[in-house]
Amino acid sequence: MNFKMQGLENVRLRLEKACKDAGREPGTVRLLAVGKKHLAEALRLIYSQGQRDFGENEAQEAVRKQSDLRDLDITWHFIGNIQSNKTRLISRHFDWVQSVDREKILRRLSSQRSGDAAPLNICLQVNIDAEPQKAGMAPAELHDMARLARELPQLRLRGLMCIPRAGVNEDATRDSFRRTRSLYDALRKQGYPLDTLSMGMSGDLELAILEGSNMVRVGTDIFGPRAQESHN
Ligand SMILES: *Cc1c(COP(=O)(O)O)cnc(C)c1O
Repeated sequence: MNFKMQGLENVRLRLEKACKDAGREPGTVRLLAVGKKHLAEALRLIYSQGQRDFGENEAQEAVRKQSDLRDLDITWHFIGNIQSNKTRLISRHFDWVQSVDREKILRRLSSQRSGDAAPLNICLQVNIDAEPQKAGMAPAELHDMARLARELPQLRLRGLMCIPRAGVNEDATRDSFRRTRSLYDALRKQGYPLDTLSMGMSGDLELAILEGSNMVRVGTDIFGPRAQESHN
């Protein structure tokens, strides 16, 4: 179990250094621990080290873990592909949904969120490199989706999320982050009160922070490798 504490500690040091290298204040990047495919007990251990934001990409797996961890004060983020028959579960069991990429899902998340709960925090996922197999909307759709998200009563639009193309060089990855950043800035200029630019994972968080990310989503480098990969 020790390696896991080491993992979180290493990631925290990397965040601190990345902020420094980017000329940013330490602590300006929020860390989301992605515990998908790991057991509730591993999440509990990371929680005991002070981590509070956790990300999951499969609704039923997440709900089982949430039940095991209901004594903890965790902020839960959904980051996976969303099938429309899962929106009810997701809207009731999560605090954030970062992977919204179509109108139908947005409308269902709002209408199914309980009126007693705080509004659901939303990031719109952008398919920044226009990869056919990848989730996320085209940049051209962002404006209409942002306007709709703002109108829906049970949602609070917080920002954008992206996953750049894999297997390319650092310059290309940075360019994907930079283009996402400029979409985010453009929405802010139009008056959307966004505060979350969710980009960067285990392999590229430093590049994301250089380009203005303020939330990184880290799985492998905190929890170790996952037994079985899932793709989104
Ligand atoms: C799995 C996942 C991550 C974490 O990836 P690692 O490379 O393990 O850090 C981040 N974001 C999303 C959307 C994911 O599905």
